[in-house]
Amino acid sequence: MGGKEEEFIRKAFSDNWVVPLGPDVDAFELALENFLLDNPENSVTQDSYFRLTRDKDKICRKKISALSSGTAAIHLALVELGIRASDEVIVQNLTFSASANPVTYQGATPVFVDSENSTWNIDPSLLEEAISDRLKKTGKLPKAIIPVHLFGMPAQMDAIMEIASKWQIPVVEDAAEAFGSRYKGQMCGTFGRFGVLSFNGNKMITTSGGGALVCPDSGIKRDVIKYATQSRESVPWYEHQNIGYNYRLSNISAAIGRGQMFVAEEYIAHHRWVQSCYREAFSTIPQIRLHENPSQDYDSNFWLSTITFEEGAKVKGNDGCGNPEAMRRRLDMEGIETRHIWKPMHLQPVFKDCPAYTTGVAEKIFESGLCIPAGPWVGEKEIFRIITAIKQNLG
Ligand SMILES: *Cc1c(COP(=O)(O)O)cnc(C)c1O
Repeated sequence: MGGKEEEFIRKAFSDNWVVPLGPDVDAFELALENFLLDNPENSVTQDSYFRLTRDKDKICRKKISALSSGTAAIHLALVELGIRASDEVIVQNLTFSASANPVTYQGATPVFVDSENSTWNIDPSLLEEAISDRLKKTGKLPKAIIPVHLFGMPAQMDAIMEIASKWQIPVVEDAAEAFGSRYKGQMCGTFGRFGVLSFNGNKMITTSGGGALVCPDSGIKRDVIKYATQSRESVPWYEHQNIGYNYRLSNISAAIGRGQMFVAEEYIAHHRWVQSCYREAFSTIPQIRLHENPSQDYDSNFWLSTITFEEGAKVKGNDGCGNPEAMRRRLDMEGIETRHIWKPMHLQPVFKDCPAYTTGVAEKIFESGLCIPAGPWVGEKEIFRIITAIKQNLG
């Protein structure tokens, strides 16, 4: 917490706004819109400046709806797109299961597409292949594409949007991990027809639990809010024409979110600073590669810093469990928590029958990768301790 959160919560309590709507929800949505959609820094480089003047009108027309979670945001995007049973939705293979689960809530089938090596995100050329193959095999086009900005690293949005518009397939951009990341100067979450944000406890900013949906315009935002509040029609009695959900963000959570927006820039800067410390340290350790922005077009928030062990790297205590697991166990004994990379969806028992277009890239990243500490408590001293421990555990 940054400091102002408690102030906002106290105000919400004293005003008795303890419901899933209220002034803090409105103010939080406005703060998010200012941050994502109306940010003068959107034009940092010449290139992106031209890009943005082209798209600026569209970006400014977007509206953000605060919801109870990022998962709820993905679900409502799919509801808005009319995804139904017998439909297929393309989902990035290397991701957290929350990207794919809502597809099944609609009775539809996720089709997994593997990642590219540079960003770890959906491979545009494989995406194109998968779309034409689905058309050939099922006679139908997938109804949506869900790319993910994994660990904050932007996906190749230009190529993805080009393919999507060529086939006229809407994009639901999962930016749950990429709050404040930019691709060619433009904020992640603002490219697709819908953009998804998460404020779960482990994300860049948090409302303890929560999320938001970036909607294409105010009309669709209104519709999303209706679905999120049990699809109640705007008449004085309780009237329902559709099945609804209870997905609105609580006013108390939104009060926390308002406070977090005061420190969001600072948090993002911290994560980028942590990454820069790792960059310097790992430059002298040839057995490990730090996952980095592939070029100037990418500006990750480095929500999590991630590493992969190079071919031939030897971690002490690797009894066949693999380098990441061996290192995780060793560091854990020293009180340093690390985590595995997301296990690809095509390897998850629950999704084993779903179509998958794989190249082995996601699997290789999973088998050789590790997330290392990057949170607000990771300072210079901690980074030194982490690096030293990693070095000592290399054979
Ligand atoms: C966290 C996360 C989500 C879901 O967000 P919640 O707010 O936890 O429901 C979706 N996709 C990805 C990639 C995530 O990391």
